[in-house]
Amino acid sequence: MSNERFDVVLSVDRTLMTNHHGKEFLGFMTTGPPILVPEKVWMAIAAPKMKVDDIGRPREAPYGLRKIEAALLDAGIKAAVIDPDHLGKHLKNAKVLGIGHHDYFALGPPSSEWWVLTGKEPVNSRYFKRFMEKPEIRAAKNNGLKIIVGGPAAWQWLWMPEYFEKWDIDTIIEGEAEKVIVSLVEDALDGKPLPQYVYVGVKDVPQLEEIPLIRNASVNGLVEIMRGCPRGCRFCSVTLRPLRQYTLEMIEKELRVNKNAGLDRCLLHSEDILLYGADGIRPRPEPLIKLHEIARSYFEIVGWSHVSLSAVKYAQENYSLISRLSEIVLRNEYDFIGVEVGIETGSPKLAERIMPAKAAPYPAYSWPEIVKEAFSIMHDARIVPAATIILGVPGESTEDLVKTLELIDELKPFRSLIVPMYFVPMGVLKDREWYKAKPSKEQFEIMKACLKHNLYWIRDLSKWYLKDMNPFVKYLLRVVISLVENAAKLFRLI
Ligand code: SF4
Repeated sequence: MSNERFDVVLSVDRTLMTNHHGKEFLGFMTTGPPILVPEKVWMAIAAPKMKVDDIGRPREAPYGLRKIEAALLDAGIKAAVIDPDHLGKHLKNAKVLGIGHHDYFALGPPSSEWWVLTGKEPVNSRYFKRFMEKPEIRAAKNNGLKIIVGGPAAWQWLWMPEYFEKWDIDTIIEGEAEKVIVSLVEDALDGKPLPQYVYVGVKDVPQLEEIPLIRNASVNGLVEIMRGCPRGCRFCSVTLRPLRQYTLEMIEKELRVNKNAGLDRCLLHSEDILLYGADGIRPRPEPLIKLHEIARSYFEIVGWSHVSLSAVKYAQENYSLISRLSEIVLRNEYDFIGVEVGIETGSPKLAERIMPAKAAPYPAYSWPEIVKEAFSIMHDARIVPAATIILGVPGESTEDLVKTLELIDELKPFRSLIVPMYFVPMGVLKDREWYKAKPSKEQFEIMKACLKHNLYWIRDLSKWYLKDMNPFVKYLLRVVISLVENAAKLFRLI
């Protein structure tokens, strides 16, 4: 066994230090409380333990932690990502513990919604609290360990000052941390005082050439291809970040890291994969085809994180590009690509108000038509959207909700999942009252319509999605699906 010592240990609780059995979408389960089965069964399906080396370094780790690890290693600092079950031996020597999270306290979407609806705390928040209470972390803290927290959910600490105090957190970094983390850690290692809060504004984010490239494998081979999004939706924090596009060379280096670690898949990550190399918000075939050919040359399985529905329509209408990309990526006639998309609303009026550029280059008032056309294109190209709907946006009217309900009904023929989420103040709507009320009649109807839509498609989708999964986990998941179906019928939800 290696006796390697690290000055900086990076880690997070099990809900994120997992590869969800290679199925990113199962990660959604960690945003809810266990439903109809014990927590252990829920977690065995959603967040299995990660393979680790002889000193507890995970084979795959969340991409954000890998980026921080890379920034520190590039600066000559001894740092490593360590699995949460193996922290003890490393924290005896470490001076800094860095933690990154997507949803520390289950305040983000969709966790907050599950919490309101079920009255039960989601597992991501439960596991994070248990992680912070680990005796090895508390003991190290008493011995002078500095704790720095960050990641996309860093804002949540500002809503939870009691936990900041309780766990004696030293610094919160809000925003892209790769540039600021090195000097903060150097100060911590030199015994200098740390600031309690660091906000990385637009001017302080790393330029493209300052973004470090991962040194070790990321969960499910996720590699970033772009940062930021030009569409400027009013509820979105991504839009506050400038647009930076990785070069193909940078992307290929990260693909190679994952390939060398033995991964068989990659997940291309951007707020809109189709805007890679685009002319503004108009997708262009050459860069996208090149990108997918490179990814496919390394991996059998190539996935997408997000696309925008207007880009799907534009790319297909002008270049048959969605069909061409699916031909590059899909391995056979039984294969599909899953991807997250944002519907957010079926109301043209609300779309014009809160996301005027989401439909571009098409007019915002044609948003429901764009959604339907994009879903139809993806259905034919064997791409499965997992779509979000936002409920409770400030100023949302009954008429807006009725339009959304109508749209969900019209999407029934298209293979997809639709997830309603509560509005959480982000982007330029950050200062508004957080949406905490119980759902209105129309909102509840939308939730029921989504459940009905999802149960309609889930059996068909699970044939593809679960086909190469561990048989026991597959069995457990089928049991959960049956229980949900039966409960939905019993309570007349479907
Ligand atoms: S399109 Fe998506 S990522 Fe871009 S600003 Fe709108 S919600 Fe944010």
